[in-house]
Amino acid sequence: PRPYPLFLAEKGASFLIDPLLPKSSSSSNTPPPLSPNNQRPKENLVVLGTGWGAAAFVKNIDTEKFDVTVVSPRNYFVFTPMLAGASVGTVDFKSITQPIREINNKVRYLEAAATEIDPSTKTISCNSIVCEGNSCETKEFDITYDRLLFSVGAQTTTFGTPGVEEYCNYLKQVGDAQQIKNAIVNCFESAELPYLTDEERQRELTFVIVGAGPTGVEFAAELLDFIEVDGPRFYKELLPYVRIKIVEASPTILRPFVDGMKEEAIRRLTRPIEIEGVPTLQPLEIMLNKQVSEVSDKNIYFKDGEKIPYGMALWAAGIGPLPITTSLIETLRETEQSSAQGFARGRLAVDPWLRVIGGKGKIFSLGDCSCVSHTPTLATTAQVASQQGEYLAKLLSNDYSTDHVHDDTTLLPPMVLDPDQTKSLSEQIASVAIGDKEIAAPFQYLDLGILAYTGSGSALAQVQVAPGKGDPTSETWNPVRLQIKGKLGFGLWRSIYLLKQTSPKNIVLVTLDWIKVNLFGRDISIL
Ligand code: FAD
Repeated sequence: PRPYPLFLAEKGASFLIDPLLPKSSSSSNTPPPLSPNNQRPKENLVVLGTGWGAAAFVKNIDTEKFDVTVVSPRNYFVFTPMLAGASVGTVDFKSITQPIREINNKVRYLEAAATEIDPSTKTISCNSIVCEGNSCETKEFDITYDRLLFSVGAQTTTFGTPGVEEYCNYLKQVGDAQQIKNAIVNCFESAELPYLTDEERQRELTFVIVGAGPTGVEFAAELLDFIEVDGPRFYKELLPYVRIKIVEASPTILRPFVDGMKEEAIRRLTRPIEIEGVPTLQPLEIMLNKQVSEVSDKNIYFKDGEKIPYGMALWAAGIGPLPITTSLIETLRETEQSSAQGFARGRLAVDPWLRVIGGKGKIFSLGDCSCVSHTPTLATTAQVASQQGEYLAKLLSNDYSTDHVHDDTTLLPPMVLDPDQTKSLSEQIASVAIGDKEIAAPFQYLDLGILAYTGSGSALAQVQVAPGKGDPTSETWNPVRLQIKGKLGFGLWRSIYLLKQTSPKNIVLVTLDWIKVNLFGRDISIL
């Protein structure tokens, strides 16, 4: 397959043409070619969201060709891989956020949440919260679009586990990280109170992390750093009471990493900690094959009957669709008879050019809320979302016409074009588009590798350097991977995260935060 940035490699070439139209077609449906003297009216393009996908799109879209309006309840982008660090004070919240207006000051921004989309009238219903003094009210309004980018991400899912919503913290937004930071310090301050028994003190200082994916593991590593580095300065007497428990329903942690890397992570996380004047500590325990059945204000209960009293719990066990995504899927199923919608566990089905199936070429979707139909499911990661955002912005900015869509029956099922089902959908479409027809390259993900911080200045970096043989979705697929760990991994982790910041200002702020924490430690004010 062609590498993802085809349009970069062939910059200037006229390959960005409607997939099903001949390259030289002069059909009346085809928009006239654009030139500075022959400009068609600007289309009204609405973007829902200010996350990884939307930010990459907004940064790259040509605002000379589109009137772009961004609608999102938050007016900034957040660098989620550093939220775990922010939740213990390793970096400041301001350092890992950037206002969307700063990312592209030519777009219009509306602080609101979309609540419903009507594709037949191209209307979006929105809610905004307006506050005067201490009283706030919700105001509703509608906006229309010519084209819509639906990039609202996903939300933490509780799998219906009772008590999670009421008593657990999530780590998805800046507000969540702020709450966690206060909750951690609060646990230490409460544990200091003189009337507590030792048992109560230990409960206050028991931190339970449900989910051993990258978010859970990185948070545990940051918390362990806080305890090891800043604990002795402020809470030395309390340290023997501290317990950190990572609880995971599956038999393994950090699923995307190879076994050797997982073992390294376990070794780092469960390392003994030596602090002068305190008996050797080994505060972190990893509990595998443990399923939470219920959470109460003081205990976490497991399906095997065990319970853990806790002071603070983080729920990082998975993500699911937002109500607006479920509602759009339902609408498309009902009004467009789009049978493709609803197959991908709550994610919106898109074609290989990120057009929502059933959206008549007017609705696009990317990132955590979408899934490319008939191709192996891509992970819900920042890497995927930002590559998709950049791809789509360049596709639209290059006058690619997206209006002449295949209807659902052409797209699905694959046997229409390939009875043996030996080719992926994008291969089939590419293979039909031979002869005088030239198509835009479908989105192709370029896997740049995965990283995870494992604490105490160590990290894992796993980069695929050569593909494996056979089916990439099968368990036996074994590509050649470069594995870097320890201090070298940490150097790479820091360098990559610095380079990936969205602005020079953020690079400077994050660097200064790291220096500040090295010199003065983390701040423990409860704000
Ligand atoms: P998001 O970035 O979640 O953005 C969604 C946007 O939509 C937000 O601005 C939200 O406010 C807005 N929105 C929500 N509802 C509405 C509505 N109704 N109307 C309008 N706007 C709405 N990925 C990696 O690749 N590497 C990592 O190291 C990594 N670490 C992570 C660490 C943490 C703590 C978390 C939470 C995630 C991490 N991820 C990582 C995953 C990555 O952040 C997500 O995959 C990525 O954010 C998805 O991008 P997105 O644009 O689809 O959604």
